[in-house]
Amino acid sequence: MKRVNLSFVAILLCFCAVFGFLLGERLRFFELPTVDFEVFLLPQEPSFDLPSREEIWALFGGVLPTSFGEDLDGIVSVLPTDEKVVALTFDACGWEKGYPYDEALIAFLLLEEVPATLFLSGKWIEDNPSHFLYLAGQPSFDIENHGYTHRPLTVDGRAAYGIAGTGSAEEAYDEVVMNAWRIFEATGRRPLFFRAGTAFYDDVAVQIAAELNVRIAGYTIAGDGGATYSAAQILRVCENPPKGAILLFHMNHPESETYEGVRELVFRLREQGYSFVKLSDVV
Ligand SMILES: [Zn+2]
Repeated sequence: MKRVNLSFVAILLCFCAVFGFLLGERLRFFELPTVDFEVFLLPQEPSFDLPSREEIWALFGGVLPTSFGEDLDGIVSVLPTDEKVVALTFDACGWEKGYPYDEALIAFLLLEEVPATLFLSGKWIEDNPSHFLYLAGQPSFDIENHGYTHRPLTVDGRAAYGIAGTGSAEEAYDEVVMNAWRIFEATGRRPLFFRAGTAFYDDVAVQIAAELNVRIAGYTIAGDGGATYSAAQILRVCENPPKGAILLFHMNHPESETYEGVRELVFRLREQGYSFVKLSDVV
């Protein structure tokens, strides 16, 4: 009888230990990151020098644009290199249904140690604060600026894909600077590149970006067709890219086949002798 009781107590103790461990794991799983989002999300005055909004208005207020497009003078559409390298760039748009996070894609890039340049909009960052901080902490990624409100960068409100551009030099200033402050706060690094929502600009806005000391990142190949391509289409349009090609994909459409296409593309390009760079590695 005594032996039975001891066995019973031993089993009970084991059960309690296992249950306690599982409970602890479960609680830890649900533990939320301790980030003061209220403070963190409000753009503050940065500690890097920029012209003021008034200075930009004095330079560009009332100047009329003469061109509008994705490939104007001053936009970097291909990297200046003779090396067999390509730059994978991923936009997170945060426009209407564009706020999700393609976790499989990001995990793959990290696992395979593929450097990448991520363009995050202010809206996407607001919707994904913990993902933003996670990405900001990855040395193989550069966090760059995809605009505070994800609009074409213009001084007269001209639209692309039905999205109205910024309506003045001051609005163009805010579109670039507000998101740059936010990224700087989290990363300690001033974004060096800007890519507007829709990737459309007018020529005056391109000059404003230059005054704000950012390069405009265009693209060589729209790699996932706005996250609409199948994996097979991605491989077709991205095969044999020119040296220094900037490939544009999206990291905010996990329902698309962007991850599957990019995964296979990375393996194929490696086999062909390409290596991957961030924009800031070359420009
Ligand atoms: Zn976008």
